[in-house]
Amino acid sequence: MLATPERVPGHGRTPDQTIWHKPAGLRCTDDCDFHAIACSSTEGIVAPAPNRDVPLNLEAADEKWCQECRALIDAPTP
Ligand SMILES: [Zn+2]
Ligand SMILES: [Zn+2]
Repeated sequence: MLATPERVPGHGRTPDQTIWHKPAGLRCTDDCDFHAIACSSTEGIVAPAPNRDVPLNLEAADEKWCQECRALIDAPTP
């Protein structure tokens, strides 16, 4: 599943985490200033890392899916 990463710094107290969102809007060019995400029409990822194909079942402890985006992915398409 193609996803756009949000880096969440742990500020030295906890390990940095990556939250994966479902991309929305414009196609990723690998050189974007901004990534729109499916869980918000107003917020997005500024200066994002490139989109990546990630498994739905993430195994790394420091990576997880955005719950809202994951729900959108799981929702049956009409
Ligand atoms: Zn999201
Ligand atoms: Zn991009």
